[in-house]
Amino acid sequence: MTIEILYMILFFLFGTIMGSFYNVVGYRLPNNISLIKPDSHCPKCKKRLGFFELIPILSYILQLGKCRECKQKISLIYPLIELSSGILFVISYLVFGFTGELFIALVFASTSLIVILTDIKYMIISDEVILFSAIMLIVGKLMLSGDVAVILVDIIIPFVFLLIVKILGDFFFKKESLGGGDIKLMIIIGLALGWQTSIIAVAFASFIALPVSIIILAVKKTNVIPFGPFLSIAALILYYFSIDFAIVFDLLYNM
Ligand SMILES: [Zn+2]
Repeated sequence: MTIEILYMILFFLFGTIMGSFYNVVGYRLPNNISLIKPDSHCPKCKKRLGFFELIPILSYILQLGKCRECKQKISLIYPLIELSSGILFVISYLVFGFTGELFIALVFASTSLIVILTDIKYMIISDEVILFSAIMLIVGKLMLSGDVAVILVDIIIPFVFLLIVKILGDFFFKKESLGGGDIKLMIIIGLALGWQTSIIAVAFASFIALPVSIIILAVKKTNVIPFGPFLSIAALILYYFSIDFAIVFDLLYNM
């Protein structure tokens, strides 16, 4: 029991540290800044961040959400990503334990957080993030099941499915309905959830997106709302609750 709690604390701390790295990735990739070269600095006054300004979640609270030098406000999304990362790492451990699936879960959660961050802040889902994550997930899946045919189907069907939805959406709404990033994101979701549950994730995401979009459109003066965060959140919920629609699809197929 006590060792269990110790593992949970360690996974939480590890998750928040990784979360602060995802914030760096989610800021630098869309702005074309090298991931390794410059030290972390305030984007406004360029002051280099010291050790105490780089502690996940705590730094934000201690600095009251502002840069210590120029008082520039820091977006609340950054500590939220760190906190969510900590929580998702703990949940991954609790749901999957020390199994191969834990690796898949950590990669999937991490990718989802970066996607949510960059899609909200810049309306971008980076190809680099999708590619890196896809490679990690394919390697993980190969080691777990080794079934290449299943892996290929889980990649291709979700991708083609959302591509068709986009083509139909563009045609009916006479404007870009979904971004290319959303379609590529389906590769990651397909690898994590399997193709059947991925398709359900799209429906679930639309279901969440509708009321939220109506509120956002009413409050903010914008008419473009990224779909990536809804898709990621819907997929995460289905994934962690281990809701698998493969059985339902098999039943329908055999009817
Ligand atoms: Zn500053």
